[in-house]
Amino acid sequence: MALAPNVYDAEPIPESARAEIERLLQTGDLFRYTAPEDAPVSLLEREFADMLGAKYALAVSSCSAALFLSLEALGLAPGTPVLIPAFTFAAVPSSIVHANCQPVLVEVGEDYRIDMKDFAAKLTEDVGAVIISHMRGHTSDMDAIMALCDAKGVPVIEDAAHSLGTTWHGRKVGTIGRVGCFSFQSYKLINSGEGGILITDDADLVARAVIMSGAYEHNWAKHKAPAGDNTGEMDRAFARWQNKLPLYNLRLSNLSAAIIRSQLPEVARRVRDGRANHDYVAAQLNASPWLSVPPALPPEERAPDSIQFNLMGFVSDAEARAFAEAAAARGVKVQVFGLSTDNARAFWNWQFIPGDRPDLPRTREMLMRACDVRLPARLTTPDLDFIAGALLSAAEDIKGELRAYGT
Ligand SMILES: *Cc1c(COP(=O)(O)O)cnc(C)c1O
Repeated sequence: MALAPNVYDAEPIPESARAEIERLLQTGDLFRYTAPEDAPVSLLEREFADMLGAKYALAVSSCSAALFLSLEALGLAPGTPVLIPAFTFAAVPSSIVHANCQPVLVEVGEDYRIDMKDFAAKLTEDVGAVIISHMRGHTSDMDAIMALCDAKGVPVIEDAAHSLGTTWHGRKVGTIGRVGCFSFQSYKLINSGEGGILITDDADLVARAVIMSGAYEHNWAKHKAPAGDNTGEMDRAFARWQNKLPLYNLRLSNLSAAIIRSQLPEVARRVRDGRANHDYVAAQLNASPWLSVPPALPPEERAPDSIQFNLMGFVSDAEARAFAEAAAARGVKVQVFGLSTDNARAFWNWQFIPGDRPDLPRTREMLMRACDVRLPARLTTPDLDFIAGALLSAAEDIKGELRAYGT
């Protein structure tokens, strides 16, 4: 019998990183602001902004730091409500609490996307910003979201931690809102262990974020304007904010930047293979009456490195748990978001959110039957067949028997 594929190991770091890492080790030049210009972190920012088609990028220590700095850069008053989907990672409401604002959770449907009716109802006059978390790379209706937010002048921050390479009407996710934030943590498309980056076209916002990320004194001068930009817009923005903002020191090191830069040429392949792998497994799962992979909204082209599906007709939590156990016995680890203890993606575990935490029955119901399986781009067809086969058999283990009794 084939062995269960290891879905947790990352891909090796490309060979091309080694010479640069060796140089950094030899010179000890690890701090982004030591070199007078062209430090690896600065080069990464320019390359990443160009790759996404944004004017500015700021590399930081994590996507959480990027989200926090985005909120701080917007200058929201303490206690300002910030909308987020109720299906996201605990780091997202945490970044809002960190910025002294108040997370307000919006219902998410069984297709893992924001419930637009609840979103419209909760987008009240006092809301200062919206963070759209493209959770597990699933894109909500960005047309409707941008129309509502633009009409009210509410800035949108895209949490694209898991969406590098995803497009919406052909436009790169992360460039639709005022700011886009990405992660380089090991379970994302680019892996440097830890790291994050924000992109924006807003010179004032990026200047504020750069200073607060830890560009003390005149280190901001080492941040490059876009090629051919002679407007001096960035420098004027830096001059406006000099000495007026706290320094949170959330910088990225040159070593991490070298590791990230070596993977930029890999992005297109990882996106293509991840999408093909996902669609291959999704087609097999959708052939089962017990498993359902919700379709993307039509404008979305995905870049997945995992697959989510719903258990259909599983009437009790015990049945859903039995499915996860049967899949584990067949070598595939399934996480049912709402059923594992202390899951960081289950909103009822975000007890650090101050004030009332109203229930969100729609999201809760989804989380109790939504399954998560990692599906990294490097998997081979036999690996994918093994995973799909184990999931289909596990569903049959639990539901097939019942069906036999029922007939
Ligand atoms: C991973 C992730 C984060 C947090 O990223 P870090 O770089 O670990 O801070 C935030 N949001 C989503 C949707 C994520 O998947």
